[in-house]
Amino acid sequence: MAPASDYVLVLNAGSSSLKFSVYARPAAQAWRLEARGQIEGIGTVPRFSARGADGATLAREDLGRAVRDAGTALDSLANWLRERFGGGRVLGVGHRVVHGGASHAGPALVTPEVMADLRKLVPLAPLHQPHNLAAIEAVAARLPDVAQVACFDTSFHRGHSAVAELIALPKEIRDTGVQRYGFHGLSYEYVASVLPEAAPEIAAGRVIVAHLGSGASLCAMSNRRSVDSTFGFTALDGLCMGTRPGAVDPGVVLYLFQNLGLSAQEVEAILYRKSGLLAISGTSNDMRDLLQSAEPAARLAVDYFVYRVTKEIGALTAALGGLDGLVFTAGIGENSAEVRRRISEASAWCGIELDDAANSGNAARISRAGSRVSAWVIPTNEELMIARHTGRLLGLT
Ligand code: ADP
Repeated sequence: MAPASDYVLVLNAGSSSLKFSVYARPAAQAWRLEARGQIEGIGTVPRFSARGADGATLAREDLGRAVRDAGTALDSLANWLRERFGGGRVLGVGHRVVHGGASHAGPALVTPEVMADLRKLVPLAPLHQPHNLAAIEAVAARLPDVAQVACFDTSFHRGHSAVAELIALPKEIRDTGVQRYGFHGLSYEYVASVLPEAAPEIAAGRVIVAHLGSGASLCAMSNRRSVDSTFGFTALDGLCMGTRPGAVDPGVVLYLFQNLGLSAQEVEAILYRKSGLLAISGTSNDMRDLLQSAEPAARLAVDYFVYRVTKEIGALTAALGGLDGLVFTAGIGENSAEVRRRISEASAWCGIELDDAANSGNAARISRAGSRVSAWVIPTNEELMIARHTGRLLGLT
């Protein structure tokens, strides 16, 4: 059993998975990761896995079919936490919540009023918000005295200008909440928080952060504040992703309904799960597979991914009125030197000169010393951002 320190639990609940991280009570402002893991296959073939901060496996086991929802998944997690951190107390629970709407410009302590407010946003994020809220309710039912904090993927983008938030539809439609919100905010907020130390010469400048993972977006920052993002009303907009197409002419969606006679559920499945890299390659949504493949369709998928990122870098550079730095983060951004090289080379026009050796070695700074626009790799850490918010709101730090 690990030492019995008090801890903050960070939860990220999806439709069939519950991801968790355990952070020990901070000493001198620094949170210490104790364990992270997930319960996958909730409702089908549930499996539990956990690793320590060093990546060593702490647990891996199949769970019974009784694990069928957020509550029963949480019970399994609680059993493991008691076994592993028996003497430690849960100081608070921080949740990733996809949508905070137009009003939540920061994390919120969970209260009945906040929950009522967040339930109203379910129609804006039907695939994620209900699961995020179900996890909060499941914790409240089991640990009624433990404070919970909701941390939103939209908050970091709330300072956008009126034109950056606008979707030019009739007012009565906009009045129902149709505007550009932006997502991946916890990732961008984390990168912004470490920028002064990781990349001091660009921290106060005009920076594009490229969060390239299975979901992908760009954030334009000025002095570490978000001014625009490629994500809009939903996390379907912008770049091509693993299984999402990115920005699509809305006429295509009309065509799917009117000419192909597809139902709303079919269109939703196409847009969220059957498009993007998977649809172009016909084989995989995993960038690693595509980079290794010699198949023309796989190459086209990578070409298209790079093309779309490059094009949007151009658009956000225009929104910023110029560019000082480009930061890569998330699964593809942190690990694929080839994708970074291709995007950087295609963005040479705006002043990026890559240092090939630094890029191949996954160095922090991957542009040459004289490059007018510098390029960087900064690993993201959304869970740590949630732990920090939770600690701050609960007065632990
Ligand atoms: P998410 O958290 O959204 O699931 P991640 O940020 O973990 O996504 O990114 C996952 C993606 O990162 C994978 O789908 C894979 O395509 C990509 N990836 C991870 N490692 C590499 C690598 N070495 N080269 C290319 N792509 C990679």
